[in-house]
Amino acid sequence: MSPLLEIRDLYVHFKTRDGVVRAVEGARLSIERGRTLGVVGESGSGKSVTALTVMGLTRFRNSTITGEIDFDGIDLVTLPDKQMRSVRGRRIAMIFQDPLSSLHPLFKIGWQIVEAIQAHEDISKEAARARTIEALREVGIPSPEKRIDSYPHELSGGMRQRVMIAMALVLKPDVLIADEPTTALDVTVQAQILDLIRRLKDEYQTAIVMITHDLGVIAELADEVAVMYAGRVMERTSRETLFTVPELPYTWGLMRSIPRLDAPRPRRLDSISGLPPSLIHLPSGCPFHPRCPYVMDICVATEPELKESQPGHLVACHLAPKDRQQIGRDLQTRYRS
Ligand code: SF4
Repeated sequence: MSPLLEIRDLYVHFKTRDGVVRAVEGARLSIERGRTLGVVGESGSGKSVTALTVMGLTRFRNSTITGEIDFDGIDLVTLPDKQMRSVRGRRIAMIFQDPLSSLHPLFKIGWQIVEAIQAHEDISKEAARARTIEALREVGIPSPEKRIDSYPHELSGGMRQRVMIAMALVLKPDVLIADEPTTALDVTVQAQILDLIRRLKDEYQTAIVMITHDLGVIAELADEVAVMYAGRVMERTSRETLFTVPELPYTWGLMRSIPRLDAPRPRRLDSISGLPPSLIHLPSGCPFHPRCPYVMDICVATEPELKESQPGHLVACHLAPKDRQQIGRDLQTRYRS
């Protein structure tokens, strides 16, 4: 199947008073209909800026965007603003960690969903309202006939996130980008929201881009995974491969730093030493080298290319593939015991 959304060599830079922020550096990603791509990395890795660029939301006077974002045959990088507005929301929708940033605080939630439907479809207010009630019911909002007239602040965080998903449900986008949608929610609500997103994918063949720093969410939902660091995609593979033979020292660090509730005995959590680099003053060579326990001379001098290590597994690292595979396998075996 050919990808529905394909990002090729995407660069997003912002000119600031302190220098040029290189937020995305040559990112390459793709996703097919009915699949979930997990994009993982710490804050500042470029994952959210990549997503916002797909939505056309990084077109500022101080930004430079180059590369291609091919969505169903349309290049979103060069698409005029007017056409971009009709793609956004209707064909590609996005939900955020804090739904309050997308919901207008002064308007009732029902009004906002009805407006969104009417902006994209020729449909009466009554019909749009009936569809909204149905969608609110579908995402598990109790008494949707009453809740439709609530203001965002009258709902809990979990309910607001459901409203955002209901909005995505009524518009049935081809792509849903979910940026840390469950980070602010408690574990039970988190599971319910992930379940709703999964349903959206299964029932409507929506392609889901799940942006998260949480490998637990990736393990739960993703078909493919891209690991981003300093604006680059540094590892890309299937979820199964990532959790059996991860090949990137940065990915190993992320894996060591997550708790495993199902581990037979408690283990010490190691966080990755140091901080993510400044995107204005990036280190030479491999951007992870100041924090990498496996750093070699070549890492300081030359940036590694994203290359195929095994079929379907791309890695940007100077370590020899067989060493990376050995270490990755050992790490996962130790991790499970
Ligand atoms: Fe570490 Fe070098 Fe690989 Fe970068 S290229 S992740 S510094 S071993």
